[in-house]
Amino acid sequence: MRINQKYRMLQESYLFSSIQKKVSAYQEKNPSAEIIRLGIGDVTRPLCPAAIAAMHKAVDEMAEAATFRGYGPEQGYDFLRTKIQQYYQKKNVRLSLEEIFISDGAKSDLGNILDLFAKENRVLIPSPVYPVYVDTNLMDGREIVYMEASKDNGFLPMPCEDVKADIIYLCSPNNPTGAVYTRAQLQKWVDYAIRQDAVLLFDAAYEAFITDSGCPKSIYEIEGAEACAIEFCSLSKTAGFTGTRCGYTIVPSALKRDGDCLQKMWLRRQTTKFNGVPYIVQRGAEAVFSEEGMAQCRDNIKQYQKNAQVIAKTLDMLGIWYVGGENSPYIWMECPNGMSSWEFFDDLLERANVVGTPGIGFGENGDGFFRLTAFGTQEATQMAMERLKEVYGK
Ligand code: PLP
Repeated sequence: MRINQKYRMLQESYLFSSIQKKVSAYQEKNPSAEIIRLGIGDVTRPLCPAAIAAMHKAVDEMAEAATFRGYGPEQGYDFLRTKIQQYYQKKNVRLSLEEIFISDGAKSDLGNILDLFAKENRVLIPSPVYPVYVDTNLMDGREIVYMEASKDNGFLPMPCEDVKADIIYLCSPNNPTGAVYTRAQLQKWVDYAIRQDAVLLFDAAYEAFITDSGCPKSIYEIEGAEACAIEFCSLSKTAGFTGTRCGYTIVPSALKRDGDCLQKMWLRRQTTKFNGVPYIVQRGAEAVFSEEGMAQCRDNIKQYQKNAQVIAKTLDMLGIWYVGGENSPYIWMECPNGMSSWEFFDDLLERANVVGTPGIGFGENGDGFFRLTAFGTQEATQMAMERLKEVYGK
């Protein structure tokens, strides 16, 4: 018996435990300090009333033999897939129901999709990055090539013809940087993927935060994408489903490689290894896409967007370089006075009692940068920014 030794390639994930240790040690020494956390990528606002009402109703249906539901379709109920199809239609993207797969969130499918690809494929991943892309490929032993995101390219790396890739990851709006690709930039990526015969894995988990019409919310708004891209999306940040768990993955029928249709392969994979998202949750998700639910979710997102504006304005005032915050809940700031990510973490904690996430935790290229999130409450965000002005405004 041999284990998968590729797991030895994984680095221990110390980021959030190191943050917690430092915060606890500080709090112990300074029990009266009121620490504000602007580091966590989880939402704080509750589910919208439309989703709650729909889930209550679905629970009641489970109590009656006539309306009880057992195993559902692995790829999701048509009532929800139809709603997602209509949601895409509003972006002028036409999808058939078979191309829409309901998931228990983007993270699982981002990992699971790798079942479709040979281990010999070469993977192109931006750095800094959401660590799941790297770790899931390391577990399979694939070769990874990093594309450098930096202040020079606004943390939006563009394709380089000399680099050969089979699988390409893009995340827009990006976690951790908050940077968002424009239509013209995404067109270049799609054209490059087609020339390389590569498959583009497009993570749109934060699409609901885009307000600028020049930045696409879906890769399928780009010509040619249906023949080279798979899109992952989630209700986690759109509708506060981080604990409820529901997302969707789009695998177009036009996406073919080696003579095989990836949509058919994904259906086969899902019907074999996945038993679907709970009926009750899918009813909640359906309600998110209703007119009422969408309006309620938009209200929640607006609150987060206001927080992002407060953070961005403060950094503008302090003359600190940053990206994100406009079409994204993340603000990626340069650490002041040439500090490293961890130096700034300590300085911010000690002098302002504010906690964020050191950029180095998302890859080497993240050092010297720092991630703040807009998912806190308005009061806490406002207060944290007042403290930043006080400490770094002098
Ligand atoms: N993709 C990105 C870029 C994320 O930041 C996250 C969550 O933080 C996910 C995917 C996972 O989302 P989900 O909750 O749907 O699994």
